Amino acid sequence: MDGKKPKFIILLYHKIGNYTEKSKFPGLYVREADFDAQINYLKKKGFKFVSLSRLKTLYDCYYQEISTGETGKGGKPGAAAKASDGGQKYAAITFDDGSKSVYSKGFKVLKDNGVNATVFMVSGLIGGLNEWDIGNGEEIDEMLGLPELKEMREYGIEIGAHTRTHPHLTRVSPREAYNEMASSREDLEKLLGVNINFLAYPYGDYDESVKQLAKKAGFEGACTTKTGIVKKGADFFALRRVAVRHNTNLFKFKRKIFKVSHFY
Ligand SMILES: [Zn+2]
Repeated sequence: MDGKKPKFIILLYHKIGNYTEKSKFPGLYVREADFDAQINYLKKKGFKFVSLSRLKTLYDCYYQEISTGETGKGGKPGAAAKASDGGQKYAAITFDDGSKSVYSKGFKVLKDNGVNATVFMVSGLIGGLNEWDIGNGEEIDEMLGLPELKEMREYGIEIGAHTRTHPHLTRVSPREAYNEMASSREDLEKLLGVNINFLAYPYGDYDESVKQLAKKAGFEGACTTKTGIVKKGADFFALRRVAVRHNTNLFKFKRKIFKVSHFY
């Protein structure tokens, strides 16, 4: 009677649109049509689209009820929610960095499909340029401005933190790593007037110490770039995702979702 577990998948995107030939990291781009096709495929498969905070609430609700049942403590609100959640599939679309293309190209696709998402913003570069990537040799890209963040937030898109300047958190001092995470959260909370609950580690770079610092900075969870789904016993400070790239055509996308659903 355990066969019907809900499924939680977090997708990782960066920029929406076509990469140019000057682009050093074309993998960061996903064309609008591909993005739209991917959302529609998941919809057809019965996925519901949620923000990360919503995903965590649903996850806690389901798995706490399971353990409540096992220990015989607590009561029954559990059973109802469990039954209604059994077998439901949830997808959380996430965008790392806060490229303006998420607004100029991706937002329309999200709205047309009536789906939600989470945007991890480099808080020191709001309305600026992708300076860390330019430093890595990538072409110039504009970042989301405050009005765009606010508009997306009003639609229901969750904003998460992606540090202030996008450093490798394991390569800076613990104090600096903490400041990058905590100040990013504070900046965004002040500017947007909402709680910032989730973080994505820049470059997916983290270790045990960075994880502890992220907890200390007040987050409820943090995303990595490791592949996987969010299943029972998941470490919410090392959340796994499914990365989608410019060459992830629908066939590859389906295969990725299938693989990750069955083998991770
Ligand atoms: Zn990033």
